[in-house]
Amino acid sequence: MRPMEVGVFLCSTAIEDPFESATKLHEIGINNTQIGPLPPGFYTDENAAKLKAHLADLGIPPTTLFVGFPGESYANMAAVKATVGLLIPETIAERKAILRRAIDFTAKLGAPRVALHIGFVPADSSDPAYAKLIDDIREIADACSAAGLGLSLETGQETGEEMRHFLETVDRPNIGINFDPANMILYGKDKPIEALETLRRYVVSVHCKDGIWPTREGELGSETPLGQGQVDIPAFVAKLKEIGYAGPLTIEREAGDDRIGDILRGKDLLERLRG
Ligand code: MG
Repeated sequence: MRPMEVGVFLCSTAIEDPFESATKLHEIGINNTQIGPLPPGFYTDENAAKLKAHLADLGIPPTTLFVGFPGESYANMAAVKATVGLLIPETIAERKAILRRAIDFTAKLGAPRVALHIGFVPADSSDPAYAKLIDDIREIADACSAAGLGLSLETGQETGEEMRHFLETVDRPNIGINFDPANMILYGKDKPIEALETLRRYVVSVHCKDGIWPTREGELGSETPLGQGQVDIPAFVAKLKEIGYAGPLTIEREAGDDRIGDILRGKDLLERLRG
């Protein structure tokens, strides 16, 4: 795969079946993908072998498996806080068990890393939940390492500085970030290009997504097609070049009525900017 090849997050097709979704990507000329999120029941050896063979037939290497959990909601800030990631005590054991299965599945699928939203990292590092989260992420990173995989954390539910401090504290060689510039804006947390500078040494993959800042307290901002939001996509791609990023440019489009059209226009834009 060439540096900065345009890829697509599989769920962006709005087709739930991962086999059909991958076929759709092939039909529109996409040649790499991030997989997921898939229902936990999908993580079987049989499905890993079948999906691996299907992607190989299509010539679409999987670059990451994104793990989600039952019961997660991204409806608004309060819903994200209450349901997403690894900070909800009563769900942690179940979610770690799902992650262990996802790690095994990812290794068998032949993707190089597992990614997830861990939830809102507490801004105060003396919060006991912070130390617990560090322990949990170390455990997951080490399980990934034992399976020959990297672990990447989705950005945007904290500032770039907060995420950098968190990663330095976790201190594991196989941990990085999936940098999503729009999330910084959608969650009202940080300026994406500056945050990319702050986190540059940790960037292992990116989501190409755009959006506008929240206008009401407690609500998320709105996702837009690439180039129509407030990320400044030309500056984002220029900054990725500056930091020497050579991985795929993975389009994530989870809103709108014409997602395939938005993906194709986004691909054109990214390829022009990439040069
Ligand atoms: Mg994302």
